[in-house]
Amino acid sequence: MIKLYNTPAKAIVPFKSIHPKRVSLYSCGPTVYDRQHIGNLRKGLFDDLLKRTLQLHSYNVYSVTNITDVGHLVSDEDTGEDKLEKGAKRENLTALEIAEKYTKLWQEDLEKLNIIPSDHYPKATEYIKEQINLIKRLERKGYTYITSDGVYFDTSKFPEYADFAHLNLKAQEAGARVDMGDKKSPSDFALWKFSPKGETRQMEWDSPWGIGFPGWHSECVVMADSLLHAPFDIHTGGKDHIPIHHTNEIAQFKADTGKPMAHYWLHSYFLTVNTAKMSKSAGTFITLDDIIAQGYSPLDLRLLVLMAHYRSDIDFSWESLTQAKQTRQRIIDFINRVNTIKPHRKNLKLQKLIRDTYNNFKKSLFSDLDSPKAIAHIFDFIKEVNSSIDAGDPIPRRHIIKLFQRLERVLSLDLPLTKPDIPAEIMLIFNNRNQARANKDFAQADKLRQELSNLGYTIQDKDGQSVIIKT
Ligand code: AMP
Ligand code: ZN
Repeated sequence: MIKLYNTPAKAIVPFKSIHPKRVSLYSCGPTVYDRQHIGNLRKGLFDDLLKRTLQLHSYNVYSVTNITDVGHLVSDEDTGEDKLEKGAKRENLTALEIAEKYTKLWQEDLEKLNIIPSDHYPKATEYIKEQINLIKRLERKGYTYITSDGVYFDTSKFPEYADFAHLNLKAQEAGARVDMGDKKSPSDFALWKFSPKGETRQMEWDSPWGIGFPGWHSECVVMADSLLHAPFDIHTGGKDHIPIHHTNEIAQFKADTGKPMAHYWLHSYFLTVNTAKMSKSAGTFITLDDIIAQGYSPLDLRLLVLMAHYRSDIDFSWESLTQAKQTRQRIIDFINRVNTIKPHRKNLKLQKLIRDTYNNFKKSLFSDLDSPKAIAHIFDFIKEVNSSIDAGDPIPRRHIIKLFQRLERVLSLDLPLTKPDIPAEIMLIFNNRNQARANKDFAQADKLRQELSNLGYTIQDKDGQSVIIKT
């Protein structure tokens, strides 16, 4: 059984899917007005961990990740410029071109990180009609009011509004310093914004209330319902979505249908720099390309993220990324070492250890996606097997490789697991060469590289990882 931390319950609870074999998953995706930074990508890696853990439990996962290409204003409140229009001005492109450009770059990043693609990537601009229909229904049911700049959801009409995020609305009211405009309460939110007078926006549509564009919080309601038929199983987001974006999604769907939108709500924590949230505005903004340019593999970042629990912030530093790189290299070196051992031999003690390691790995992941603990089990295993190899014990080579093939279904670190058609004696020279390089004994490393070359093998060094191929 899988247990997950459900945000509204503020507790780890058993997960029960609506359909016994299938899980429907909706993830709030990026606003595509600029490059995604590695903080945004952490959210994608969290979704991937969730998906792969559900698959490890034999669920079939059907997933949707939305693309926000309109309506997300510079402030998560309802003020400021539309991020897409801002991006268009910055680069002298149309809003559509900006959306296409950054969607493509983001999807390339996901691929480099071995993130399983979602089944659908709906865009907010493709669901304008559905958003207008939702707002019309909310209006008919008496949940809205109109101000000089838009149509607003009246949160006072929805008594459960504060429940999901355990909000203290009275304190919010007292502390309201933001320019509320004509809003009646700070928690009320825009469903439809009018295009500013005297200004033609690139993205605007006609509606029963006037020309304008939808507020940010309606798109996910209609896209999730259209593609997954709410209530569905799991909805995810970053933890910043709890008090505003998700609270507002829930209010709209429940006010409209009387039903909850999703059964489980999961939120990943931030990637920080010097403990401050990585964000574009703070200027502490690192992209996946920056990491690659510094000689790291995207999968070093993948491992760095997996080594932290999704409900704790990761304070990013280049040192921590270097550590993750070395940790990944330790796993690769271990597998290369095992690959040199021939033939496969029985060892009941190690075979039991293999079974226990796999069970503990699964148990940790099924316990609220405890990936750091799952990885710790792998390192205990590596330590144990390395001692056995050192002691000259029989090694169940095939079982070890099989174990790592299974672990890779979640880790996906591109470990060298395909059965090498490289002879063991060649692998031995290759490993000695890697060891020499790690010890900065470059003369010895070059000597062994030459030796391999004479024997008809080439070493390729890429992203700090070495592979050997037959020439
Ligand atoms: P945005 O493009 O700002 O709408 O963010 C897209 C997603 O990335 C949201 O789910 C945010 O919660 C998440 N996010 C933004 N900044 C960070 C960060 N520094 N660390 C982790 N997640 C973040
Ligand atoms: Zn959303």
